[in-house]
Amino acid sequence: MVTFSRYELPPLPYSYNALEPFIIEEIMRLHHTKHHNAYVVGANAALDKIEKHLRGELPGLDVRAVLRDFSFNYGGHIMHSIFWPNMAPAGKGGGKPGGRLGDFINKFFGSFEAFKSLFGQAAKTVEGVGWAVLGYDPITGDLRILQVEKHNLLMTAGIVPLLVIDVWEHAYYLQYKNDRASYVDNWWNVVNWDDVDARLEKALNLAKPLIYPSLPLP
Ligand code: MN
Repeated sequence: MVTFSRYELPPLPYSYNALEPFIIEEIMRLHHTKHHNAYVVGANAALDKIEKHLRGELPGLDVRAVLRDFSFNYGGHIMHSIFWPNMAPAGKGGGKPGGRLGDFINKFFGSFEAFKSLFGQAAKTVEGVGWAVLGYDPITGDLRILQVEKHNLLMTAGIVPLLVIDVWEHAYYLQYKNDRASYVDNWWNVVNWDDVDARLEKALNLAKPLIYPSLPLP
């Protein structure tokens, strides 16, 4: 009997109004309980179909369609699960990154301001819906910026996401209307740099040995 594990909606690490005034409670509540939850449900629904197919109960499975559904919904689940702890309550987030992350940002982008400008432009110029991502590249040990469309397109297998910003309209429209740029500019006030730095430390220790076991750590 084939039985896959199922995904669950993780709780927010703060209250729904904790990011005000930068992101209002109504957005956070809908975003977490409706949008993120829909991706959890969607990923599990794709697993249901594959499971039934493996049991012989769904012989006509459209494999391409179900795997496309899975990629989209799993991508949505993963990206939101990183996005929530990437933010901290207003007054506790923002500022500049310290630790190894601060050093890496200076090393690979020249300065925090240069990084912020490039990442901000990546977020503001996503065509349609998607994400900007700061990730760790386990091949070179560098930081990389990616632009992801939807939740999964243009994402790569190797880059480990450290900091992500959701630029789907559901992330800002109720407060910022069509002004995505203002949302992105205000979002910096709630970035949880301690979380991003902790993710970098884990990526340094885990990602390269996983993908390139023969290469030394940086
Ligand atoms: Mn979203």
